[in-house]
Amino acid sequence: RKGNVIVTGASSGLGLATAKALAETGKWHVIMACRNFLKAEKAAKSVGILKENYNVMHLDLASFDSVRQFVDNFRRSGRPLDVLVCNAAVYLPTAKEPSFTAEGFELSVGTNHLGHFLLSRLLLEDMKQSDYPSKRLIIVGSITGNTNTLAGNVPPKANLGDLRGLSGGLNGLNSSSMIDGGEFDGAKAYKDSKVCNMLTMQELHRRFHEETGITFASLYPGCIATTGLFREHIPLFRLLFPPFQKYITKGYVSEEEAGQRLAQVVSDPHLTKSGVYWSWNKNSSSFENQLSKEASDAEKARKLWEISEKLVGLA
Ligand code: NDP
Repeated sequence: RKGNVIVTGASSGLGLATAKALAETGKWHVIMACRNFLKAEKAAKSVGILKENYNVMHLDLASFDSVRQFVDNFRRSGRPLDVLVCNAAVYLPTAKEPSFTAEGFELSVGTNHLGHFLLSRLLLEDMKQSDYPSKRLIIVGSITGNTNTLAGNVPPKANLGDLRGLSGGLNGLNSSSMIDGGEFDGAKAYKDSKVCNMLTMQELHRRFHEETGITFASLYPGCIATTGLFREHIPLFRLLFPPFQKYITKGYVSEEEAGQRLAQVVSDPHLTKSGVYWSWNKNSSSFENQLSKEASDAEKARKLWEISEKLVGLA
């Protein structure tokens, strides 16, 4: 049978390119988990994904009710779940004030981390029941959360501190809206959320790989300077960023190529190692990359896991 893969945020950018790359192989049915149903349908059509290879299901990661509703709807579809790709993200670099999810958590961490944390935890049960030979749970990471790289050292740097803002509820009322308890900074909140994504992947690996055989992985697909992720940025930035990445840093990767990379992490029989953060070199071959000190801190991963469980209502 075909594999069934859920891709969150498949309505644009990397998620859409990945959905297309997987659907084209004829080996995958892609469940596009998106907050804007019509946009996702149009996007699928615009890149030529055939009807028999996908369906769109509504998911708004900025609402735990929506996440739970999505899981119920998916279960009702009767499909087994073989691979989950947590890809969706928001990036609000120019925001002066924080925005919040339905449950009142700062929006970048609430969407990118907490929404995906709840989704992964619930769907892990479904994945356990699938008989697919190579089950995988992938969380898209980023270099920007990695302070051991050049790009990860562009200020403001990611830093979760002692997680006091997160354990206080990340609501900007009786706690800070930033994980480390500091002043709101949209760019930093995004980077922090990506560190959470990478820590979560490793904690999933430690807790569930042996028992379930599921491969847990993260990746940095390269700098996809053309995606919607930068839509909130100032116009001059959006104009200069793609050529800057193409010619100066040479980290630029097209949406299509990035989609091929993520599709590789979903299905390549060589990429079955669990607990790995994949990157690609100049010749576009994959390698196991090192994570920064903070993004590989096992004690912090455990603490993040425990606080997140409470916030999403699982503990
Ligand atoms: P896009 O903005 O193009 O795509 C983000 C996707 O997330 C969209 O489909 C968007 O939906 C969706 N989304 C946002 N909020 C929600 C929500 N509340 N519920 C459900 N879906 C939501 O950005 P990219 O394709 O660039 O980003 C994809 C991933 O790649 C992210 O995890 C990002 O961190 C990562 N990444 C990107 C890099 C880059 O250079 N672009 C580099 C490294 C990592 P909608 O279409 O409705 O807005």
